[in-house]
Amino acid sequence: MIKLHDKYFKKFISETQIQETVAKLASEMAEDLKDENPIFIGILNGVFMFFSDFMKIYPYTCEMSFIKLASYHGTSSGDIKELIGLSQDIEGRTVVVLEDIIDTGNTLEELHKIFKAKKVKNFKVGTLFFKPNAYQKQHKIDYIGMEIPNEFIVGYGLDYDELGRNLPEVYQLHNHNMINLILFGKPGAGKGTQANFLKEKYNLVHISTGDVFRYNIKNGTELGILAKSFMDKGDLVPDEVTINMLQAEVEKNPEANGFIFDGFPRTTAQAEALDNYLTSKDMGISATIAMQADDEILIQRLLERGKVSGRADDQDEEKIRNRFDEYNQKTAPLIDFYKKQNKFHRVNGIGTIEEITVRLNAVIDGL
Ligand code: AMP
Repeated sequence: MIKLHDKYFKKFISETQIQETVAKLASEMAEDLKDENPIFIGILNGVFMFFSDFMKIYPYTCEMSFIKLASYHGTSSGDIKELIGLSQDIEGRTVVVLEDIIDTGNTLEELHKIFKAKKVKNFKVGTLFFKPNAYQKQHKIDYIGMEIPNEFIVGYGLDYDELGRNLPEVYQLHNHNMINLILFGKPGAGKGTQANFLKEKYNLVHISTGDVFRYNIKNGTELGILAKSFMDKGDLVPDEVTINMLQAEVEKNPEANGFIFDGFPRTTAQAEALDNYLTSKDMGISATIAMQADDEILIQRLLERGKVSGRADDQDEEKIRNRFDEYNQKTAPLIDFYKKQNKFHRVNGIGTIEEITVRLNAVIDGL
């Protein structure tokens, strides 16, 4: 295991595997391009190692060049622009763009735009690594070395905030030092409020299933339309829908230091699914922290919140009581579920927001 900046990484793809993959790509391209004099164009910086190893074994005549594209925020999701352009004339030529990795496809899209204007004869794309689960575009990728899951990787040219490019093998984020918290408690216990403080302090991603449903309702998605009928009555949304949605939210954040699950799990089936899912990703729950308060206090809080939030399920005492019934029947059994795993903690949920934050910090710092 290695440490780069604040994160730990474990070995993921060996040098041998990488070299075999590079060799496979070189022979595939050699077969297709032997009668051409292609120009291989490397996309810096990440490609430098792959490009060099590839060139050493590419057996036929070729030319090479490099361009550099930068994305804002250092991720592949920002706006992209060309930084260092091409020096030679490529009109009428066969061009093969080589990439170290294609994930969302934003860079690839930009490349298509750039090369469309240049009237090349053939435009092909080859990548050492490809993340099919992250890819959001339709462009064809002509040569793919290896498909990898949507995990954050470094090494062999790829960096974590500029470190790790010189490693001869590829490493993956090691998730054991993640903090994954479940904030537990009845509606109105203050989970969302506290999650906002905890996510800042511990640099975690906050996932509130209620918020995700409300966002979908607001945007009129299929998921939102389905969830609304349950939520308006204060009933739980079916497990399968909720579990899939939760996993999708986790998948959106492969670089997270950890997660705060707020409003999930709410049933034993959800808790089991969460355990299985996290285990499959080499992750796990660090602690479940229940915030406790009396029903009558919670009802008053929710009715107050309903006046400003406009949430239908907060405005009607009958619906609130139904949510508590759902909690008592379906969610309360999770206390034992997490006690058996020695992960259950409680804090008093009555007090000022600051007082409760201090109590939660004490639990987390003691983990
Ligand atoms: P919340 O914002 O956490 O109070 O959630 C509001 C509503 O969203 C709940 O009453 C449910 O209808 C739905 N919901 C949120 N999370 C879940 C979950 N884990 N399982 C089922 N339904 C959920």
